[in-house]
Amino acid sequence: MSPSSTTRSPAGPGSSQPSRWELRTCGRRGHVTYLPDETELADRLSGHTGAGRVWRCLRCGDFVLGRPKLSGPADQAPLVLRGKALRSAIILRLLALERVLRTLLLSLAVYGVLRFKSARTSIQDALTRDLPAFRASGIHVDQLALVRELQHALATQPSRLNLVAALLAGYAAIEAVEAVGLWLLARWGEYFAAVATAVFLPLEVRELLKGVTFTRGAAFVINVAAVIYLLFAKRLFGLRGGRRAYDAERRGEQLLEVERSALSGPGGQGGPAHDARTAPATGEGVTGTQTHTGDRRDR
Ligand SMILES: [Zn+2]
Repeated sequence: MSPSSTTRSPAGPGSSQPSRWELRTCGRRGHVTYLPDETELADRLSGHTGAGRVWRCLRCGDFVLGRPKLSGPADQAPLVLRGKALRSAIILRLLALERVLRTLLLSLAVYGVLRFKSARTSIQDALTRDLPAFRASGIHVDQLALVRELQHALATQPSRLNLVAALLAGYAAIEAVEAVGLWLLARWGEYFAAVATAVFLPLEVRELLKGVTFTRGAAFVINVAAVIYLLFAKRLFGLRGGRRAYDAERRGEQLLEVERSALSGPGGQGGPAHDARTAPATGEGVTGTQTHTGDRRDR
């Protein structure tokens, strides 16, 4: 069988042209070639050239010279991130990075509050000592926003500062958990991020009502978009068919599944019947697999 005769199987998401994301991912991590135990399927995934046997990459669909990286029963083949799933993984990881940034900023804020608390006596001393001198020289220090904020903060009880630090630390921890869950592309991470982000939206609205700033506006827009994206694209809480539809969509994008359906479908050459089971995760570049099969009971 020549490579060109196996290049494109019957129409379906798995047989579409590779996107630049798939090509980029393969360029970075290498192709994912797989030798299935089923001979007919193996034939559909390979071809012969003058240079030797070539194998289709399960991610980008290109034919690659050399031995397949992985082998085993088709059922055990890795679920490869491609098509919609690959784009979605990139979006979730960008969101995870944004969560990392928030975690760092919140941690800095906690550190700042605690440092301020321990240094408030010396700051108070400095203000008491220096402000009269500024006032005497005609500088209206009391009208400076920074000085007013500082005096206001100094009047705050240490216990209240502790509470502020604890709340900020709690918020930082939530953002950190979101970052980890989203980066791992875990189903629990999608649920956690959607719920935690939605819970804080009313607070963000309250902040916006106090005054619209670029940071507040941008944070609010990102968070609303994230909640809507997670709910609908990831089909959380049974939306758009829930987990079942989500898994079916991902399986439909798997090259191996497309080829197997072609074999068992009308005009196919027989072979193993289409198996709806989802394969366990193995190998690099298949990070989404484990997470999407690990907690299959949720919807
Ligand atoms: Zn590839």
